Amino acid sequence: MFTDLHLHTNFSDGTYTPEKLASEAQRFGLVAVALTDHDTVEGCTRMRAACEANRIEFIPASELTAEINGIELHMLGYFLDVENPRLLQEMHRFQEGRTERIKEIVSRLRQLNIPLQEEDVFGIAQCKSPGRPHVARALIQRKVCANLDEAFERFLKKNRPGWVPKEKIPAQDALKLIHEAGGLAVLAHPGLARSEEAIPALIEAGLDGIECFHSRHSPASSEFYVNIAEENNLLVTGGSDCHGMNKGKPLIGSIKLPYEYVRLLKERLPSEHFARQSHPISVLNNGNDLV
Ligand code: AMP
Ligand code: ZN
Ligand code: FE
Ligand code: FE
Repeated sequence: MFTDLHLHTNFSDGTYTPEKLASEAQRFGLVAVALTDHDTVEGCTRMRAACEANRIEFIPASELTAEINGIELHMLGYFLDVENPRLLQEMHRFQEGRTERIKEIVSRLRQLNIPLQEEDVFGIAQCKSPGRPHVARALIQRKVCANLDEAFERFLKKNRPGWVPKEKIPAQDALKLIHEAGGLAVLAHPGLARSEEAIPALIEAGLDGIECFHSRHSPASSEFYVNIAEENNLLVTGGSDCHGMNKGKPLIGSIKLPYEYVRLLKERLPSEHFARQSHPISVLNNGNDLV
């Protein structure tokens, strides 16, 4: 019984629809999955339905960009109430920030005489939470770059001419927001940003867990973070961070987290969660306005 707790769809910068993602999860024999799109829970309604159709347990979640003491980190919120007004309000703010950032990135690239229009990027993104991979895909479409790596290397990485910082939520506020929405807060892929120096402050602020297993963590780094989690009584999670076809080979199936970890997550949930679960969730949007 295996799960993958870090997956993206085209509701942010993944390429799979929720339905495609759920069918891939089924193909890999996963019994539970979490959708962790960046700064949105909008895909959760369709993902829940698609998972139900494939008899897969669904965990509504999101990945927030946060910051503590100048260190950027990604914070996963699991078992979120996707109708929580504060959560939706904050996410709306981040989505607006992302949209403005795309405009700024395009404007910087245009100053370099690169033939790129805002509409190229928004036409590809077709979602409320656009990001750099959408700009990269637009650059490929315009034949400015051959692939995503080239686009990031030449233009989109930090310290490159098209780089624009993203608005970040203070980590303490992210933790509070996730908890207010009835969720559990888990530090995403600490091995990528080497954000472990932030862990003591995050624990102080109420961190619930660490994503120890990730497609870009080595076995040694996974073990390192499992030890930190155990020493601090934190939950352990893991996921592939699959973005569909964005990075060539889809990563779903590369991390198979034993279901036991999901059981432990559920044990840590506040009891109100189960009260909430007994009510059917209503549809957040018309579900059809995004591809
Ligand atoms: P953003 O949220 O707009 O800052 O974009 C971050 C996303 O870009 C993350 O999902 C990364 O996986 C992706 N990304 C970062 N570097 C690269 C790269 N070299 N090639 C492809 N995708 C990348
Ligand atoms: Zn992403
Ligand atoms: Fe991330
Ligand atoms: Fe991610």
